[in-house]
Amino acid sequence: MWISRTGKGKNIMAVRTTETHIEADHYTDIDASDRVLWPWKNFPPHEMQCRHCGAVKVRKSAMDRLTLLRSHAGDLPMHVNSAYRCPAYNQQISSTGPTGPHTLGGSFDLQVHRGRAWTVMRAAMNVGFSGIGVAQKGATRSRFLHVDDEEHDPDNRMIRPTVWSY
Ligand SMILES: [Zn+2]
Repeated sequence: MWISRTGKGKNIMAVRTTETHIEADHYTDIDASDRVLWPWKNFPPHEMQCRHCGAVKVRKSAMDRLTLLRSHAGDLPMHVNSAYRCPAYNQQISSTGPTGPHTLGGSFDLQVHRGRAWTVMRAAMNVGFSGIGVAQKGATRSRFLHVDDEEHDPDNRMIRPTVWSY
C-alpha cells in the first residue's frame, strides 16, 4: 500500500509500506516522530538512508532486531555508518553488486571498535543476526561491524550464517 504523509505537499508516492518493509524515495519523506510509521526512535530514517541518493528501504523485522541488539549491548548510542544502499550505489562501492545485502533493507554497518565491538558482536549473534562482517583495522573511526539477518539462499550466493573480514 502506498501512503502519503499528508499536509506537507509531499508526493503521494513518497512513502511505501508493506507487511514487511517501509520504503521512501527520500528519507525526509518519512516523519521520524511518527511512532506508528517509524517505531525505531534510536535509529532515525536519516541514518538508514542511501548515502548517495537519500532513498530509504528497511525490513521491519531487521529494524526490530537492530533495536534488540542495541538493548542487549547496554542501550548505548550506536552509530550506523551505512544501512540501505540503492542498487546503483551498491554496485559502485561493493563487490556484492546491485543485489548485495545492503540493497535488501536488513544490513547495518555499526561504527564500533575494540571492547565495544566485542560486546556488539556477541549481542548480534545472540539476537540472531546471521551475517557478520568484521572491519577492525586502521583508524578507529573507520572500524565497524556489518550485521545482517539475511536467510541462507545459495542460488542467490547468500550464504548464512557466516562471518567475513574486509
Ligand atoms: Zn542511492
